[in-house]
Amino acid sequence: MTIENNHVVAVSYILHTIEEDGSKILVEETTAENPLTFLYGVGMMIPKFEQNILGLKAGDKAAFVIQPEEAYGEQDPNSITQLPIDMFKESGVPPIGAILPLSDGQGNNFQAFVVEVTPEAVIADLNHPMAGKVLDFQVEIVNTRPATEEELTHGHAHGIDGIDAH
Ligand SMILES: [Zn+2]
Repeated sequence: MTIENNHVVAVSYILHTIEEDGSKILVEETTAENPLTFLYGVGMMIPKFEQNILGLKAGDKAAFVIQPEEAYGEQDPNSITQLPIDMFKESGVPPIGAILPLSDGQGNNFQAFVVEVTPEAVIADLNHPMAGKVLDFQVEIVNTRPATEEELTHGHAHGIDGIDAH
């Protein structure tokens, strides 16, 4: 059975970023015992990631590189925001590197990363932490199977066997 749309795919992978000097930094590593399981073809994954594993079957391996414009986009310098220090009177001023859960007036939730703290403001970066990064994937397909009716209705995978309660 090979990967196609509306399959539930379980994949183990090692993700590195490739830095400007060519060095690799390990970002994430899954194991075959605890693979990433997702519904293929519904936009949950980076499209380029899905394209690279299309047609593979359990046991197949692949290695590929995805450029920022086909992954999480380039860094947007306009996405740096200054939050008045008064916002943090009750919660306390966060340390550099902290993740701030924020929401806008429309009820959208997003995350910001503290990059600097001054006496007046907490300066946070709204870019995705992987923005601007070249992604280097080594993947191994653990399993692929047609999604169940329920999974298709829900629009997501119910675990590698399709029986995960949630
Ligand atoms: Zn569900």
